[in-house]
Amino acid sequence: MKPFIYDYTLEQIQQWMKDNSEPTFRAAQLFDWLYVKRVKGFEEMTNLPKQLREKLDEQFAFVTLEEITKFESKDGTVKFLFGLHDNHAIETVVMRHNYGNSICVTTQVGCRIGCTFCASTLGGLKRNLTAGEIVAQVVTAQQMLDATGERISSIVIMGSGEPFENYEATMDFLRIMIHEKGLHIGQRHITVSTSGIVPSIYKFAEENTQINLAISIHAPNDMLRSKLMPVNRRFPFEEVMEACRYYLAKTGRRITFEYALIGGVNDRPEHAEELADVLQDLLCHVNLIPVNHVPERKYVRTPREDIFEFQRILERKKVNATIRREQGHDIAAACGQLRAKHMESQAR
Ligand code: SF4
Repeated sequence: MKPFIYDYTLEQIQQWMKDNSEPTFRAAQLFDWLYVKRVKGFEEMTNLPKQLREKLDEQFAFVTLEEITKFESKDGTVKFLFGLHDNHAIETVVMRHNYGNSICVTTQVGCRIGCTFCASTLGGLKRNLTAGEIVAQVVTAQQMLDATGERISSIVIMGSGEPFENYEATMDFLRIMIHEKGLHIGQRHITVSTSGIVPSIYKFAEENTQINLAISIHAPNDMLRSKLMPVNRRFPFEEVMEACRYYLAKTGRRITFEYALIGGVNDRPEHAEELADVLQDLLCHVNLIPVNHVPERKYVRTPREDIFEFQRILERKKVNATIRREQGHDIAAACGQLRAKHMESQAR
């Protein structure tokens, strides 16, 4: 199979041009066709010589994401279930906010991390996506928004999969997204979220970017975290915290801690107190996420008043916390739910 053209950063395309005795400025022209004009084939790139277009076409493929389903919520959230060339399906969500449009992308087909509140992990990990397959989610969504003159202005890497277990593809995806000759998404408008893959947190600290880091913490201590997130047995709570302290010292950039509130499990006042103590000296922000009902796990939502109480306790102890505004509730927008339903229907 041919590699995808979206897999390549501008620098890699420049190298390809050199290796093929083409002037390197052709790389920027190609990038412009891909990400500014957003064409769907090499034949449309009319300022490239015909011979070069043919050569590109021989050597590279476009990622075609087949739209299996698309659901649009009353609040403007659009959830796509895309089919890949090998019949796997992935989810991508576009969210409309009053400050702009954001997209939540997927980095793996399925996930092996096994968080107990997450539908994406139910069938395990099938494979990593290539950088180009992650890029294609943004380009395809942007092509949809082009019709109404809207723009994707922020990206969250929080869809299915663990981006730090697909590190190189995720980093190439980011390099392509932020490039000024491409979609040019502001680095501070991008967040990569990890379940706490410790070696990759250290690596990411060295990348020298302005991209935001979010850590899925979901518990205030080692024992409870291991129950909710089996990955905690590989990278225990204290090692994650140590890596966070290193990241903060190295980058000076605030970390977001994601905390999924699960009724009766990790949402009691004593959990909030303990979490506040752990995060006391860190430059951070806590994002509280009331979980959706997960029938497979018998998890229930935290009552509204308890969510606010949890936030109040954190804030009283000077830990900044917000409650994630839910979007797309009416279209099963939580991670992995749509794909899980699709897999179920395929199996019937
Ligand atoms: S929450 Fe993220 S890391 Fe955890 S199982 Fe789901 S997709 Fe994987």
